[in-house]
Amino acid sequence: IDNALVRAVHRIMTHADGKRRLAVRTNADTGADAARARRFGAEGIGLCRTEHMFLGDRRELVERLILARAEGEREAALAALLPLQRADFEEIFREMDGLPVTVRLIDPPLHEFLPPLEQLAVNVAVAQERGEDVAKEEALLAAVRRMHEENPMLGLRGVRLGLVIPGLFAMQVRAIAEAAVTCARAGGTAKPEIMVPLVGAVQELETVRAEAEKIIAEVVGDSGVEVLIGTMIEVPRAALTAGQIAEAAEFFSFGTNDLTQMGWGFSRDDVEGAFFWRYLELGIFGISPFESIDRDGVGRLVRIAAEEGRAARPGLKLGICGEHGGDPDSVHFFHEVGLDYVSCSPFRVPVARLEAGRAVIETDGSDSR
Ligand code: PEP
Ligand code: MG
Repeated sequence: IDNALVRAVHRIMTHADGKRRLAVRTNADTGADAARARRFGAEGIGLCRTEHMFLGDRRELVERLILARAEGEREAALAALLPLQRADFEEIFREMDGLPVTVRLIDPPLHEFLPPLEQLAVNVAVAQERGEDVAKEEALLAAVRRMHEENPMLGLRGVRLGLVIPGLFAMQVRAIAEAAVTCARAGGTAKPEIMVPLVGAVQELETVRAEAEKIIAEVVGDSGVEVLIGTMIEVPRAALTAGQIAEAAEFFSFGTNDLTQMGWGFSRDDVEGAFFWRYLELGIFGISPFESIDRDGVGRLVRIAAEEGRAARPGLKLGICGEHGGDPDSVHFFHEVGLDYVSCSPFRVPVARLEAGRAVIETDGSDSR
């Protein structure tokens, strides 16, 4: 690329950075993504989706954990997962040395970690036909059937999973705290922020928090590591009870993907092709509300939660980590609402930096430079 062009872009970015009040973080789940985003100017990680760390070889361990009937089985799965998670977080903390890293506790829809019912039923039928003992297959089929959900995105996800699977969140909290201490002992500075997903009631957060605080205190000791605990605001009820939830949260991060899904009652994964074209034709919205924040509805939930959260806890840290964090118009909206940061995918970090700067110029009047 032409050097003059690179210099011009650099000048514009520096100018925007000097103006903006929103910090810009990134969504990253691996050290490689974190490093890339840092090169683009990310000032921290706003969302590390830990469920992505449990795919591939580890999927089976999670399946065993979820379906475990006996304490011993569960503990074995957790003991195998702990060092893997510790290594994941150490890598990310190293890349993001000195910058905040929001690690979200596991939030998969359950079906992603359960074997498909149909497959299990076939296994039982095949074993029966061969005259084999089918007791084990039948027990597995019955267990998966008990957990089967017609609507997994509204089911056993996020904090709900943590509340019903003993030890799952505790294992992750321990891995985060231990990784942070390892970084500190090696001379680095890890700044972990543990984020609880899909909270709709303060009691859910209080339950997770009580257990997490004990583990953190035990692990960090006198290492100087500080671990914050906060929550996603992504369920409409959480936005409407933000004043209560703030009592148990050091930060909020708006999950505008789920907040849009639940605010409108649209399925994130299905609806756009089915009927959005008609909504666009009618002018109900000019762009998909999953892409650009719906200021009047979902945006109002964000405003309410920001105001009530800060009224209950002055200085409450506020961010956004849904897809909207890298959308230009949405960035302007989050600036207006007074959030502290937006978080977006690594490649959108420069766009968010630029728009956060432009938002200041627009609200504060003309740009004199
Ligand atoms: C969200 O809901 O906006 C969010 C960031 O979480 P996820 O997309 O992982 O559900
Ligand atoms: Mg979500």
